[in-house]
Amino acid sequence: GNELAGKVAVVTGGATGLGSAMVERFVAEGARVVVGDLDAERGAAVARRCGAGALFRATDVGDPEQLAALVECAVERFGGLDIMCNNAGISGTMHRSILHDDFADFHRVMSVNVLGVMAGTRLAARHMSEHGGGSIINLSSVGGVQAGGGVMTYRASKAAVIHFTKSAAIELAQYDIRVNCLAPGNIPTDLLAKASTTMSPEKAERMTRAMREMMNQDRPLPREGTPEDVAEAAVYFAGDRSRYLTGTVLTVDGGTTA
Ligand code: NAD
Repeated sequence: GNELAGKVAVVTGGATGLGSAMVERFVAEGARVVVGDLDAERGAAVARRCGAGALFRATDVGDPEQLAALVECAVERFGGLDIMCNNAGISGTMHRSILHDDFADFHRVMSVNVLGVMAGTRLAARHMSEHGGGSIINLSSVGGVQAGGGVMTYRASKAAVIHFTKSAAIELAQYDIRVNCLAPGNIPTDLLAKASTTMSPEKAERMTRAMREMMNQDRPLPREGTPEDVAEAAVYFAGDRSRYLTGTVLTVDGGTTA
């Protein structure tokens, strides 16, 4: 397709999972994409697969200076910035009870999931406000839409992304900058596996299996979601078909929260 022809995008956390699916779909639609990620090996591999359509830059979104350099890289190498996808996120330790939450985890999760999104939005908006607008896509989660017991820090961080996105959308509309949220349901990626690194492998596997079974029961559509399912929605937000949408939250969850 050529839905994003001539557009330049930045995708944070684009080395794997939902992010790499977005990078590949954006490039397939004619965009040029700068991939920012901590993981240099996998990030560079994604860029290689995309040929001239993408390049990789090592970035920690928890550090606003590195994020600024990432945005600058898009402007210098590809001549602008039309689409900013603030996708990098971490689950933190998936404590099942607030009684076991710890504050080191809280700071890590908030600095990547919330500060990373806020700084990414602000830096992109500074460029876009002077160059005719753009589309900013922030990754929330069904965990940020719906309350539930356990995994409180992650849920709180993803709820913050929604409220921040709506407020930014109102303020930035005057510059023709649209800001929207994607709220995926649970999609098998590394995210869950990483959450379980503090557990024994047996316990992690038991928990992953239990969560997937529970999710399968609660989801009306009879199959698990894929990163490509989320990437489709990202293309929609990125391109002009969604030109009258801003401050919205699109759940991509097979009907789980319906
Ligand atoms: P993932 O763990 O598979 O990939 C995340 C990527 O982000 C990795 O490449 C990782 O290296 C990178 N990253 C992590 N911290 C970073 C940092 N500080 N700076 C730069 N890059 C960093 O995760 P995913 O499942 O693809 O999730 C992507 C986004 O979607 C996250 O924001 C996540 O919270 C959200 N989300 C995922 C799901 C799901 O079920 N997979 C559901 C809802 C929301």
